[in-house]
Amino acid sequence: MASQEVNITVLGAGVVGLTSALLLSRNPKYRITVVAKHMPGDYDIEYASPWAGANYFPVGKPESNLQKFEKNTFAELKELATNVLEAGVHFQDTLMYNRNKDFGSDTADWFAELLKTDPWWKDLMPNFRVLSTSELPPGIDSATAFTSVCINTAIYLPWLAGQCLKNGVIIRRGITSHVLDAVSLHHTGSKASIIVNCTGLSSLKLGGVMDNTLYPGRGQIVVVRDEPNVMVSISGTDDGGDEATYVMQRAAGGGTILGGCLQKGKWESQPDPNLAMRIMRRCVELVPSLGGGKGVDGLSIIRHGVGLRPMRKDGPRVEKEKIEGTWVVHCYGHGGYGYQSSYGSAKEVVKLVGEALEQGGRAKL
Ligand code: FAD
Repeated sequence: MASQEVNITVLGAGVVGLTSALLLSRNPKYRITVVAKHMPGDYDIEYASPWAGANYFPVGKPESNLQKFEKNTFAELKELATNVLEAGVHFQDTLMYNRNKDFGSDTADWFAELLKTDPWWKDLMPNFRVLSTSELPPGIDSATAFTSVCINTAIYLPWLAGQCLKNGVIIRRGITSHVLDAVSLHHTGSKASIIVNCTGLSSLKLGGVMDNTLYPGRGQIVVVRDEPNVMVSISGTDDGGDEATYVMQRAAGGGTILGGCLQKGKWESQPDPNLAMRIMRRCVELVPSLGGGKGVDGLSIIRHGVGLRPMRKDGPRVEKEKIEGTWVVHCYGHGGYGYQSSYGSAKEVVKLVGEALEQGGRAKL
């Protein structure tokens, strides 16, 4: 019934905004507009989502919100990899290596939960096992093997947008300088009762939010055509504590992502060629089948890339706040884990929108 309809504007069309819009759109009472500066298909330094690997490597600390969001996401990604092949998500055999000497580095801290041999996620991931000492490559102190997923973001983001459109969501371009500008951008021409703020790192400067606990975690990648058919990562590098090494083959011809780094506070949008060389060298060392036995020279490069992870001091902010009489549900600050926590975060958004309505959303005007 029209009188029960609720206008919602979702600000942001990254993986967090689109997943939130998708889950909200399952409620037939909600009329949803997604408004964003950047859309699937765009590649921009202000838009983190296309640059991600993206895989499911759980890193949330026990009892944290991030852990809850990650726990509530894997089953959804597994379902997509099993039954929704057009989403561009596939299973990958995975190896996670640990070197004790990396302990305390930025990368080892980031991967702390991932590196454990008895992690909280061991029953969540198919085929989890600890490698025996005889299976460990030289220099590796411990390792686990499991099956995870890798997402081809170039297929998955448009797929998410398509699922939203199928459910009646209207997607449009727009740029807001204040979060409440979104109230007037609903496609109906009426005002939105609730704003869902999924602007990622831009919430640092967005009027009405200006969350100064956000900062960029710069990631540089090389995308290659080589297909190693395995996903591998390691606790650190000998090239610096904020550099990382990971290899992840995307589904459906999306190429293989060679990474990387986690450079905190760095905004540089252009790839550093020296870092690119180090990344390629380390990845070939870790997975010698890359480059077809010819080392770095044998790699077939598609492109170099840089993305800024929306890092936040206390982890993702998923909470509601009344700003000048309008409920805003915030969902931003997903660092290097926006895909692997996307469904868990979006489920929380649905819950918070429901609570906000019970507590009296902005009157429809
Ligand atoms: P974004 O994708 O940045 O989207 C923000 C949206 O808000 C955009 O549409 C933007 O246009 C819009 N917006 C912002 N401000 C405004 C405004 N004022 N007005 C209108 N619109 C606005 N995560 C994983 O889970 N697994 C991985 O393997 C992984 N690998 C990664 C590798 C790299 C190199 C990088 C950089 C990131 C990786 N991530 C990974 C992290 C993941 O990419 C991010 O957590 C995720 O993309 C964040 O999504 P988001 O929707 O919050 O933000």
